[in-house]
Amino acid sequence: MEGVQMHRVLIGTVVAWCVTLPRPATAQQREPLSVGEVTAAPGAAASGYLRVPPAAGDNGTDIPITVVHGPQPGPVVAIVAGVHGSEYPPMLAVQVLRRHLVPRELRGSVILVHCANPPSFFARTVYYGPLDRQNLNRVFPGAADGSVSYRIADALIREVVSPADVLVDVHGGDANEALTSYAAIMLTGDTARDARTRLLGNALGFPRLIENKLPVPIPTPARYLTRAAAAMGKTSLAIESGELGRRDIQYVQPIVDGLLNLLRAASILPGRPTAYSQRQRYASNETVASPVTGVLWPRLRLGERVVKGDTLAVVTDWFGQQAAVILSPNDGVVMYQAVTPPISAGETVAAVGVPLPGDAR
Ligand SMILES: [Zn+2]
Repeated sequence: MEGVQMHRVLIGTVVAWCVTLPRPATAQQREPLSVGEVTAAPGAAASGYLRVPPAAGDNGTDIPITVVHGPQPGPVVAIVAGVHGSEYPPMLAVQVLRRHLVPRELRGSVILVHCANPPSFFARTVYYGPLDRQNLNRVFPGAADGSVSYRIADALIREVVSPADVLVDVHGGDANEALTSYAAIMLTGDTARDARTRLLGNALGFPRLIENKLPVPIPTPARYLTRAAAAMGKTSLAIESGELGRRDIQYVQPIVDGLLNLLRAASILPGRPTAYSQRQRYASNETVASPVTGVLWPRLRLGERVVKGDTLAVVTDWFGQQAAVILSPNDGVVMYQAVTPPISAGETVAAVGVPLPGDAR
């Protein structure tokens, strides 16, 4: 956070958001909102499960969700935690957020996914699901007849993303990763949608913002949840907060605060949103993978500035002999890095954020 000046100013962006989204005719005509078998009446919240039935030799899973349905029409925001089951602050933050949402105050609706990947959560796995060894955030949009990760992805796309106008996918560093918190927005070149996406991305309030310009058309399969949502025409954002299997409030509270401010900026919650005029903006987050399997020795610290070719980490064999040197792929800032010793060939060692021109600091 060093060197970051955060100025809070009020903004008049609420009206701009309101006029860009269609609003159904009257409150009297408002129907209940159902997600899977969970149905919330207007002005009420309901919690339950999105069922992923047994198939393909596994027992399936039940995804815990909450539907908060305002009495007045407005945008639908889907907030997904726990795609990676050992990233805990997002899941804790969504529990806290649920307590903050008063259904009768909402103009619109919020769909909360408390944990998208219960098999990974309970098996405490990093990256991969325990049943099919798939990374859930590489298999979107999923498949109804696939292994459990594919079926989870399919259920989320059909039931959670489809009815939403806005998708926020909330992650953190996985249990082996140190991470400096940031938000990310998915830009597709659609001027109006990109403006809304920037507005909501700024409202999240994280001092670092990655502005991902997605290739258009978005390649299929999209693989990532945020890309799949963007390909469906949704306003798509991500949060990264938390690291190393920790659950500290310092990682949880910014997620809660950011999501509440996003809901104000989308005019779903009453009150004027706070805007943050100073962001460290990045054009991309370039990951670098290990070419070998071995024992990882990080050489740089999180948040440190690097230039292309700087040594990020060294991988040794079991006996301490150097097997690979991992170099920074570009000038930038170390946004996250694997810090626990195990590393397999092809796994990410670090990600280096590339500052937007004029945003370097
Ligand atoms: Zn993740």
